[in-house]
Amino acid sequence: MGLKVAKFGGSSVADALQINKIKNIIANDEDIKYVVVSAPGKRFSEDSKVTDLLYLCKTHIEHNLPYQQIFQVICDRFMAVKVNLGVDVDLTAEFAEIKKNLEAGASADYIASRGEYLNARLIAAFLGFDFVDAASMVRFDEKGKFMEDLTNKTIEKELSKHEKAVVPGFYGAKIDGNVKTFSRGGSDITGALIARAMGADVYENWTDVSGFLMADPRIVKDPKPISTISYKELRELSYMGASVLHEDAIYPARIANIPINIRNTNKPEDPGTMITAEPAKLEDGQIISGIAGSKGYTVVNVCKTGLSNEKGFLRRMAGVLEDNDITIEHIPSGIDTVSAVLSDKAIDGRLDEIVESLQQMLKPDHIDTSDNMALIATVGMGMSSRLGVSATLFTALAQAGVNVRMIDQGSSEMNIIVGVENKDFETAIRAIYNAFVK
Ligand code: ASP
Repeated sequence: MGLKVAKFGGSSVADALQINKIKNIIANDEDIKYVVVSAPGKRFSEDSKVTDLLYLCKTHIEHNLPYQQIFQVICDRFMAVKVNLGVDVDLTAEFAEIKKNLEAGASADYIASRGEYLNARLIAAFLGFDFVDAASMVRFDEKGKFMEDLTNKTIEKELSKHEKAVVPGFYGAKIDGNVKTFSRGGSDITGALIARAMGADVYENWTDVSGFLMADPRIVKDPKPISTISYKELRELSYMGASVLHEDAIYPARIANIPINIRNTNKPEDPGTMITAEPAKLEDGQIISGIAGSKGYTVVNVCKTGLSNEKGFLRRMAGVLEDNDITIEHIPSGIDTVSAVLSDKAIDGRLDEIVESLQQMLKPDHIDTSDNMALIATVGMGMSSRLGVSATLFTALAQAGVNVRMIDQGSSEMNIIVGVENKDFETAIRAIYNAFVK
């Protein structure tokens, strides 16, 4: 018999109807021993996520605004789940405790974590599994830094005592016992940590889509699903904006060599996407695994004759950006030019200041900037062994009338990143997709 860890995201546990679906999924698979749950997510597109409502309570309190109505909405949602599932959990006592802590100034992390906590309590009772609190296993140091080894050992020690358990995702606790959350969407990380610590055969990540698609369906009509993809390729796609799984969830699964299977709670018969260590098995003739990208970048081009002979140039350039708290997304370079691709979010309206500092530190011949840029990554392990991949890509873009403003090919030859103007973003993605996917 195998061992699976199954994580169910917010929409999979949004109400009693969804929770009944996950019960069926679990009942049909004896191997699912440990279940990680998110807080209730959206039931319909205009709905609110419980986590957002919890954060909202905290901000209301901070601004001395009445928070009771929002808190009541949260309580009502959990109460409805409890009644509809017919479970015996003393929610009234839980609500009173949370309210008391909220009014006593409990941290935003603690407040936000209660969505996962309460949902896990209800779901554990409904499934007949043990409830094991993540605060007793997922550890952070006093500065809030995640403690990987300690967490791994503690999860193993604690969960080994339970044959089947439900664990709330998203949070853990600092050494002093105070709750600390991961970043948003962090229940994916909890699931991966448990899969690693318990040596799972598979980490199933249940959501509301049947895995990854080769391109964003809002841009490309009916893109093909990705049946298998390697961790490395997925990392490239996630970095560029393909979001289904929290990017930090990949590491724990990867080092323990545990495949991650993205599944759809609403269509459990779909096999979903399998993420493995090996390169993706591509269908005959298929070269790429997927295309992803995002808008909102600025390229800063620094030109200086003899730059390649100048020592410390890149270090000084990186230093200016570091001083401005900006990470560099890419650094394409030429003989006398170095460009830095920066996200507009990081620049935060300070472009003139940054250029001024670069002028002073680097004494270049000139600096020019291109804003309104989008980056598109075409990813696939199969690309390195094929001739003509770049030719296909650039011909497709030229034929679609897209002006390529920047090119960066990763040294792994697993991706080609192009920079285009924001206005050409969608056209470029469609052109690349149609050129490679038959
Ligand atoms: N509930 C948290 C969020 O909305 C964490 C999660 O669902 O993974 O971000």
